[in-house]
Amino acid sequence: MVIIREVECRSILNKSAIANYCINPYVGCQHGCRYCYAAGITFRFRGRIGEWGEFLDVKINAATLLSKEVKKKEVGRVYLSSLTDPYQPIEEKYELTRRIIEILVQNNFPVTVQTKSRLVSRDFDLLSRGKSNEVGVTIVTMDEEASRTFEPFSSKPEERLEALGLAKDSGLKTYVFFGPILPFISDNDIEKLLLKFKDTGVDYMYVDRLNLRPMVWSMVSKVLLKKYPELYDKWKEILFSKSSYYDEVKRNVLKKSREIGLEAIFCY
Ligand code: SF4
Repeated sequence: MVIIREVECRSILNKSAIANYCINPYVGCQHGCRYCYAAGITFRFRGRIGEWGEFLDVKINAATLLSKEVKKKEVGRVYLSSLTDPYQPIEEKYELTRRIIEILVQNNFPVTVQTKSRLVSRDFDLLSRGKSNEVGVTIVTMDEEASRTFEPFSSKPEERLEALGLAKDSGLKTYVFFGPILPFISDNDIEKLLLKFKDTGVDYMYVDRLNLRPMVWSMVSKVLLKKYPELYDKWKEILFSKSSYYDEVKRNVLKKSREIGLEAIFCY
């Protein structure tokens, strides 16, 4: 069960290393991915008790605050979101992300949304009003069972790619964020995976490894021991010693993406 609170925030349009600004309409994330780097940051600053994915703060004054902040700040690209998913299930009820996008588009702030939810397609009408808005979906694997295990409450990977195809049809720029690459799960058939991305008409792809941010190992290792015990030692070696695994994956992804004509941008 997810404990949901309505809260008022003091600022909403925040400086970011990813784009000029980022907006997090929620604190916590119902998707509850077991590899989520936001978990450690959220727990550290919010001091919440409970499992990641089991609490959520809804910033109910987000849109009102944003309407004032856009008047005072320089126009720049806004990324949604850095520490939560802007289209997690609760967004269907509160429509915070939708109201935020509406304000940003009206004030000519370019928007990038990245999600693991098909709900994003609800807002293509708004997003396609801006000139350079873009939509990204995160894909770790196309294997539904593995996806359910590591990202239990997000949309199925196929549904995310379908949403991306619809974004393209709406005239939006699109990308896949392929990551974090989970050893021996994400990399089973790289060529097939990249071809699937390309088939959606995607403009480019980001690629990232699994980084050991706070809490990540404690969450993923529990999953490994329960569902993939044969991978536990292999992951430990890759993540805690000098392993060439991610360099090899990088070479392979680079080679295949060049062969099929898909631009790859590596985050590691
Ligand atoms: S969707 Fe993103 S923010 Fe939400 S739990 Fe998963 S990785 Fe974390």
